[in-house]
Amino acid sequence: MKFATIKDGSGYVAALVDPASDKFWPLDSLLPNLPLKASSDLASAIPYLVEARLVPRSEDGIALGPVNLCAPILSPPHNIMCVGKNYRAHANEFAKSGFDASSSPADAVPEVPIIFTKPSSTINGPTSDIPLVAGLDQAVDYECELAVIMGKGGRGISRDSAMEHVFGYTIVNDVTARDLQQRHKQWFLGKSPDGFCPMGPWIVTADEVDYRDMRLFCRVNGELRQNANTRDLIFDIPVLIETISAVMTLVPGDVIATGTPEGVGIGFKPPRFLKDGDVVECEITGIGKISNVVKRAD
Ligand code: MG
Repeated sequence: MKFATIKDGSGYVAALVDPASDKFWPLDSLLPNLPLKASSDLASAIPYLVEARLVPRSEDGIALGPVNLCAPILSPPHNIMCVGKNYRAHANEFAKSGFDASSSPADAVPEVPIIFTKPSSTINGPTSDIPLVAGLDQAVDYECELAVIMGKGGRGISRDSAMEHVFGYTIVNDVTARDLQQRHKQWFLGKSPDGFCPMGPWIVTADEVDYRDMRLFCRVNGELRQNANTRDLIFDIPVLIETISAVMTLVPGDVIATGTPEGVGIGFKPPRFLKDGDVVECEITGIGKISNVVKRAD
């Protein structure tokens, strides 16, 4: 099943969506006992969706066509958790780019997962503009990524049981200001400008896809830049969940972006950074795609 957050005239609506029939069903119409907050906040609804068996009636569906799809998770319980250099070819291109303050070409491929975060203020819609702001606009880069949405929470989750905790998957573009990432050594500032995490278009539940074989594509103005498969992840999803939950309690609605493959802008010589008017499209098989225009916002 697919779940989305929709904005209508009265606010946000957490909904079951069926793109094939172009319909959606507000969750509170399918789950009469859903708490009020969960009817507008998908992260709050996840514990109920894990338990429920939803049976939407086609005649009750509302036309999806004209509605405004938002990021499915608008405000995750924690920062968005991200993984650095989790595809071998990307780790090498990053190390050679001169923008990696964390390692040298000799130790480009990490031996343990590199975890960092982006604040929820980066979250942006699947078709919203990526804002270019003075001072943060000189080295803006794209990163298409598969993101995990946690279902059942927990601490100390083993890799063997990790997949029981996954609710589903969505797409994120981990947009990055490379100059800040390089200058400040620690990655947080370069990853955190407002609006630098387009997400969506919906969450696909874990039963509908094989996380070990999903293809990622990123296009800039129609030119294919990234083309990879999740089977090439250095640290797979069970290992990432084990690593993060060894330290902190994960809760329903947490988002883990699993890392980006080869083909980002700094992989080119000279680097090909995003500029005003560029259209960035991130697509993952089994989920769909997000498409965002880079737009000057100051
Ligand atoms: Mg990334």
